[in-house]
Amino acid sequence: MTGGTSSAGAGPPVLLLRDVVRSYPGGVRALRGVSIRIDRGEMLAIVGPSGSGKSTMLNLMGTLDRPTSGSVELNGHPVQRLDDRRLSAARAHWIGFVFQQFRLSDGMTAAENVQGGLTYTGMPHRHRRAAALDVLARVGLADRAGHLPTELSGGEQQRVAVARAIVNRPAILLADEPTGNLDTASGAAVLGLLTELHRQGTTVVVITHDRELAAGMPRRVAMRDGLVVNDSGAAR
Ligand code: ADP
Repeated sequence: MTGGTSSAGAGPPVLLLRDVVRSYPGGVRALRGVSIRIDRGEMLAIVGPSGSGKSTMLNLMGTLDRPTSGSVELNGHPVQRLDDRRLSAARAHWIGFVFQQFRLSDGMTAAENVQGGLTYTGMPHRHRRAAALDVLARVGLADRAGHLPTELSGGEQQRVAVARAIVNRPAILLADEPTGNLDTASGAAVLGLLTELHRQGTTVVVITHDRELAAGMPRRVAMRDGLVVNDSGAAR
C-alpha cells in the first residue's frame, strides 16, 4: 500500500483502489491493474493521453462503475460489498461530480440546479434553497442565482456545476476535464475555484490533459495504456 505518514490518525483514505482491472466486452482492458490511495484533503491531477483509462478510473472512483477485478474502498467501505441502493446513498453523501459538459438542466435556474445536488440527501426542502444560495455565493455567483444556464457564460455554468457538486459537502470532488470546454481565462477561474475548495479542506481529483494545469497541482498521477505509470504522491 502506498502513502501513510501524512494520513496518520486521519482515518481511512477517502479512496483506495487495489489492483483494479476494468475490461469491456470485446476484450478492451481499460484498466490493467491500478492501485492508488487518496487521503483526506489531497488535490491531484490525473494526466495521460486519450484512451489511457482516466475516465474509466474516475468512474470507478465515483462508484458509477464496478471493477472487473480488484477492489475499491470509499471512506473505508469496500464498494463491492454495497448493494445498489447503499451504493447510491454512499455516492450521494460522499461524492461530487463535475464534467466537461457541465450537465446542467436547461429549464432550471442556477439555484434550482444546485438544489438538485441535494435530491438524495434527506435535507428538508425548506432548507435546500438557502443551502444552494450559500454555495452559489461561495463560487462567486450570488447575483446569478435566478438565471437559466442559457443566460450564463460557459465559465459561470461550470461554476454552477461545481456548486451543485459541493452543496452536500462531499468527502471528495471528482472532476473530468472541468476546463476542457472553457476559454483560458474561464478555465483558470474554475481551476482557481477548485484550488480554493481544496484549501478549505475538500479532497479534489481532476482529470486533465492540460500539462500546465497539472504542473500546478500538489500531486500528479500519470496514466498510460490502463496503468499508472507515475504517481508523484506514491512515495509519501
Ligand atoms: P481516457 O479517459 O484516458 O480517454 P477512457 O477511460 O475513456 O480513457 O478509455 C480507456 C479505454 O477503454 C479506451 O480504449 C476506450 O476506448 C475504452 N472504453 C471506454 N469506455 C468503454 C466502453 N463503455 N466500452 C468499451 N470500451 C470502452
